[in-house]
Amino acid sequence: MVTGGVVSSIGKGITAASIGRILRSYGLEVTAIKIDPYLNYDSGTLNPYQHGEVFVTDDGMETDLDLGHYERFLDVNLSGQSNITTGKVYHTVINKERKGSYLGSCVQIIPHITDEIKRMIRKIAAQKPVDVVLVEVGGTVGDIESQPFLEALRQLRNEEGHDNVMFVHVTYVPYLKAAGEFKTKPTQHSTKELRSTGINPDMIICRSEKSINKPLKMKIAHFCDVEPLAVINAPDVSSIYEVPLVMDQENVGKYVIKRIKLGVGEESHDLSQWRAIVQSLHKPEPNVKVGIIGKYIELEDSYISIREALKHAAAQIGAHVEIEWISAEENIEENILKELDSILIPGGFGERGITGKLDAIRYSLEHKIPLLGICLGMQCMVIQFARMQGWPSANSTEFSDTNYPVIDMMEKQKKIKNMGGTMRLGSYDCKLIEGTMAYDAYQEDIVQERHRHRFELNNQFRDQLQEKGLIISGTTTDDFLVEIIELEDHPWFLGCQFHPEFKSRPNRAHPIFVSFMQAALDHKKS
Ligand code: GLN
Repeated sequence: MVTGGVVSSIGKGITAASIGRILRSYGLEVTAIKIDPYLNYDSGTLNPYQHGEVFVTDDGMETDLDLGHYERFLDVNLSGQSNITTGKVYHTVINKERKGSYLGSCVQIIPHITDEIKRMIRKIAAQKPVDVVLVEVGGTVGDIESQPFLEALRQLRNEEGHDNVMFVHVTYVPYLKAAGEFKTKPTQHSTKELRSTGINPDMIICRSEKSINKPLKMKIAHFCDVEPLAVINAPDVSSIYEVPLVMDQENVGKYVIKRIKLGVGEESHDLSQWRAIVQSLHKPEPNVKVGIIGKYIELEDSYISIREALKHAAAQIGAHVEIEWISAEENIEENILKELDSILIPGGFGERGITGKLDAIRYSLEHKIPLLGICLGMQCMVIQFARMQGWPSANSTEFSDTNYPVIDMMEKQKKIKNMGGTMRLGSYDCKLIEGTMAYDAYQEDIVQERHRHRFELNNQFRDQLQEKGLIISGTTTDDFLVEIIELEDHPWFLGCQFHPEFKSRPNRAHPIFVSFMQAALDHKKS
């Protein structure tokens, strides 16, 4: 169980995922749960400006971006049930109450809400045979919202036994420049706060700008009542993928294995594959510049999976990716686009920023710069292509009531009133057409990719668009929906209706991203 103290945004998710990676390196099976103590049912309706990217699981749940870290670090596919929110817990409990399941009792936070939380955690634990379930509690201890969750975890420790449950507290140790020293007081206070919920941490992970020294660790051990070996240094590092290596040097795995009696020895410990990945991610040359034309660029977390997928692909082709974040909402100057080796148009919602995206697509078409469009990005590619082929009013019905709705909502979607969880979500089969760029990239007939959208390429215009030169290189297995488009007389112009970024892993870069990065590198060379 991983809790956080002092401040948020210290990388609790990465820290927990790194513990998971280390345990995986002992050959253990690990799964993860992220608890988000907010009232939203899921992340689907959250604004990326505030919460970063919405991560989509195979089973179509719109979740917190930490699930993305877990999938990438643990190399597992998580179910949407791995994201537990206050909203989900209360929704379930209130539904049960309406059904009369509580047999007349007064429904309360303890035991009914806490029981439901424990049931949800155990359900994930029982889904697959795993050795370890990591549970990360969002927010910081002391928040009113997280109290029922901490209480449930405390109960769980008693029910599952002390030897089976361990608490890890991730805190921040600030460095005070004026005093010239690190300060442990905030860590002491947040540990005290955690204790007031009845939870004694077994391990304290100290996030800090630089490594803290032994006397300081001893001080934390002493005041926070943990073993000195369980005070772990986690200083800032240049890449998130280095965190498991840094924490491994602190013998985190060894301690956890002993504490919750996992019964594996050091001889089975092997992080060499991960180390090789980290090395390949550090290659500084050749530098490939990718421009991301987005709406939420102030918060890089909004496009976190895309950023990571680009890094994985660059590492695979032996290059370094430099991302240029370009606002779709301002006039994009040609001399900015001129500097790029490739352009990426990510997903999004609503009309704001569309002009910038369409301009960048026209630039790619005119100057033959590789371009990858994802979801809304693909829809914009179709719109711009149609406009340049002589249909100036081509548009998506998401933005206007045009007589050339090349992108439109499916009939089924038009009837939907609720916004939450009603898009085309999760993994669907996509059939690839031989002889296309997409097929070349995947080298497979059928692939599974994750979706999150309401609009589609309008079948009414399919033939006309193809006559003008648009290639449909991927469709649903029944041929009904267009999944991938490309163009013949362009070095690399590919749009996909799904989100390939969600399936990229550091050890398994996504084929579309690899092909895209290779095209960008070729473009740079030429
Ligand atoms: N807004 C578009 C749709 O709903 C695209 C969504 C996306 O890019 N994820 O179809």
